[in-house]
Amino acid sequence: MDLAAFTAALPKCELHLHLEGTLEPELKLELARRNGVDIGQRTVEEVRATYAFDSLASFLAVYYPAMDVLVTRRDFHDLAMAYFRKAASQNVLHAEVFFDPQVHVARGVPFADVVGGYHDAVLQAQRELGLSAALILCIVRDMPVESAEAVIEAVMGFREEVVGIGLDSDERGNPPARFAHLFARARAAGFKLTAHCDVDQEDSTEHLRQVLEDIRVDRIDHGTNVVDDPRLLQLLRERGTGLTCCPISNSFVTDDSKAPVIAQLLRSGVRVTVNSDDPAYFGGYVTENLIALTRQAGLGPDELIQLQRNAIEISWADEEVRERFLGELDAYEALAAPDL
Ligand SMILES: [Zn+2]
Repeated sequence: MDLAAFTAALPKCELHLHLEGTLEPELKLELARRNGVDIGQRTVEEVRATYAFDSLASFLAVYYPAMDVLVTRRDFHDLAMAYFRKAASQNVLHAEVFFDPQVHVARGVPFADVVGGYHDAVLQAQRELGLSAALILCIVRDMPVESAEAVIEAVMGFREEVVGIGLDSDERGNPPARFAHLFARARAAGFKLTAHCDVDQEDSTEHLRQVLEDIRVDRIDHGTNVVDDPRLLQLLRERGTGLTCCPISNSFVTDDSKAPVIAQLLRSGVRVTVNSDDPAYFGGYVTENLIALTRQAGLGPDELIQLQRNAIEISWADEEVRERFLGELDAYEALAAPDL
């Protein structure tokens, strides 16, 4: 078994995946037809041609308008279910997935239809695929704070369906501190907390400081710029705070996958993980991200196993899921590794 085959069959835990970023061209066309939404393209090839980006701005200009094809509870279910099937095919056993309700509510979609549709798929994935999944509501940081306040208010009625609160979208000029009151409220209500600290942003270090010291998140999405500040790196280590890294999307946003930094953090015992972010747009699900990192940083099988151990440790899965996952990982290590 070569390293690519070993990676493909490895039991995996996905922690950084935007459901809206899994909208493949085929499903986008189908939903557009179903809902009578004119998206300007008629074939899969035409849609795929729009999924080509050279900057964060060009990505966001396609990403948000694409969501117009999501209208009914069934649409949200179908999007999430297509992703869960893909994830199961890559041997993802546990997935904690983001969604951006502000964008949908602003288009007139009821909050309950968004959460309800996604949750229907979570239940179906558990039942039909044996995949455990949990939903994380992301605050869209470049939309008005009032719209974030409205969805945080709304999610208080969905404590069973949503496990945590995150923060995503364009970081420039949108510091985490602006949303500290919402994170405090969510924490008090029992939600777990995470936040994007994207790579190489203006004020990256200050934003990392805010999420670690002031908001005290449970984990950080991306966050590799923590290596720029020894004090914050030390704090991250002391707390055991994990990072959810996404090598392929990094290379779209910054021309740099950050593979050496991710590998350096992994080898120094920081709980880094590898994930897929917006795979329909960036052309790689979790297996492809792991293979990209392996090729660029020269990871070995032990390190691929450690990445999955890190992921389940920093996940918000319950004890039973955690134990089952670690059992499968141990069995895989014992069976597969000696053949390399
Ligand atoms: Zn992300």
